[in-house]
Amino acid sequence: MECISTESRKHCTCTYTDCNRRGNCCKCITYHQQKGEIPGCLFTPEGERTYDRSRSNFAKDWNL
Ligand code: SF4
Repeated sequence: MECISTESRKHCTCTYTDCNRRGNCCKCITYHQQKGEIPGCLFTPEGERTYDRSRSNFAKDWNL
């Protein structure tokens, strides 16, 4: 499957628009994984807007 990041960023639900990884899922996932975090698109819209990508915030966001 061809990477669509150069064609469109519309699929990205992250609202941090200044990020240069936005729309490039491979780089986004790798970046947050290496920090022990979770990409913004997996949070609820409200949780995403906190910009706290920690696992603890993810659990709190989804009431886990
Ligand atoms: S989740 Fe993080 S790395 Fe991914 S686009 Fe948003 S701010 Fe950038």
